[in-house]
Amino acid sequence: MGESLDIKNLKASVRDTVDAHCHLLSELSLKIHSNPELGFQEVKAAAWLTQYLEDNGFSVECGICELPTAFRGSYGQGKPAIAILAEYDALPKLGHACGHNLIAASAVGAAVASKPAIDQFGASILVVGTPAEELYGGKAIMADRGGFDNIDIAMMVHPGTHDAATTQALACVTLEVEFFGKAAHAAARPEAGINALEAMLQSFAAINSLRQHIKDRARIHGIITDGGEAANIVPAYSAGTFLVRAEDDTYLNELKQKVINCFVGAATAIGARLEYKWGDMCYAAMHNNLTLAQLFRQNMGSLGRKIQLSYPNRGIGSTDMGNVSQLVPSIHPSVAIAPVEVAIHSDQFASAAASEAGIQGMLDAAKALALTVTDLLANPEVVARVKEEFQQQND
Ligand SMILES: [Zn+2]
Ligand SMILES: [Zn+2]
Repeated sequence: MGESLDIKNLKASVRDTVDAHCHLLSELSLKIHSNPELGFQEVKAAAWLTQYLEDNGFSVECGICELPTAFRGSYGQGKPAIAILAEYDALPKLGHACGHNLIAASAVGAAVASKPAIDQFGASILVVGTPAEELYGGKAIMADRGGFDNIDIAMMVHPGTHDAATTQALACVTLEVEFFGKAAHAAARPEAGINALEAMLQSFAAINSLRQHIKDRARIHGIITDGGEAANIVPAYSAGTFLVRAEDDTYLNELKQKVINCFVGAATAIGARLEYKWGDMCYAAMHNNLTLAQLFRQNMGSLGRKIQLSYPNRGIGSTDMGNVSQLVPSIHPSVAIAPVEVAIHSDQFASAAASEAGIQGMLDAAKALALTVTDLLANPEVVARVKEEFQQQND
C-alpha cells in the first residue's frame, strides 16, 4: 500500500522506540530467561513485565481470569482493540527452551512502540499476559473465562528456527484410560484372572493398525502409566495417557471415536472393564488470518528478514494460541533465532533464547508487531478485511 508521510513518520518512530528500549528489553528477556518459572508460577516474570508496562504509561490489571499470573496492560480506550499476547512460562528441567522469555519482551516492546499510532488514531493496544502455555493451555482457560472478549485482533510472535508469518498447529486433546480386570496367581491360576495390562497392549496394537489409515497430519500417541504390580500377579488394573491430534476439529471428533473403538474392542477381547475420560482442556487448531499474516510479513521483510508466508514440511505440534484464533482474528508467526537443525525444547534452543540472535529476533518481532499495528490503525479497510476473512473462516 502507498504510505503517506504521516505513516512513514509513525513507522520510523516505532523503529526508534524499540531501538531506544533495546537494552531494557534485552535485560528483561535475559532476566526472565535466568529465572525460569513453570506454568502458573510465573510470579517474577509477570511482575517484571507489568512493571515495564506501568513505567511506560499502561494501566495494568493483574490476576485476570482468576489466574494469579495472568495480566492485562492497556493503553488507549478506542476501537479497534489490538492485543499482543505474551507467554513467559518455562519448561521443567529445560528452562526457557521454548524461548517464551523472548515472546514476553517482544510483546511489551511492541505495545510500547505502538503508542504514537494509538495516540494518533484513538484505538487501544493491550498486552495480554497468558501464563502456562506449555503445561496447562493457559489461553484455553482464559478463552473460556472471557479473557479475549472485546478484542478485535490478537497477535504474538514465537521464536523458532525459521521466519514464517503463519504457524500450523494441530487440534489436540488428552485422554485418560483405565482397564479393570481381575488379579490371580499368574502361574497357578491364570484362568481365574482378567489381564488389564493385556487390554492396554491390545489397545496399542489396535491404535497402531488404525494409524495406517488416518489422515497424514493426525497423531495418536500415548504412554502406559500403570501396568501392574508384580510379574506373578495377573494385572488387575492398567492405566495410560494419550494425546489425539488432528488438523481440524471435525476430523479430531471423528478420530476420537475411532480411538475409543480401539479401547472398547480391546476391553471386549480381554473381558476387562474400560473407563476413560477426555481432558477438559483441548488445544484448538490454529486458524491463521492471512490478511494479518501478509501485513506482518511485509513489515518483517522491511526489517531485512527473508520471511515466508508459511514453512512447508515442518513437524507441527499444538498451541493454545489456536483457541484464541477461533475467537479473534489472530496470527502466531515465528522468528528465527537458531539454525534449522536445532530442536525446539532442547538445551541448544534454551541457549539460543539467551543469545545475540535471540535478542535480535525479539527486537525484530517487537518492531514488526508494532509496525503491523500502525498499518492496521492507518487503514481501517484492512481491519475490515481481516474481520471478513475471520467470518468466512468460521462460518
Ligand atoms: Zn514449547
Ligand atoms: Zn512455546
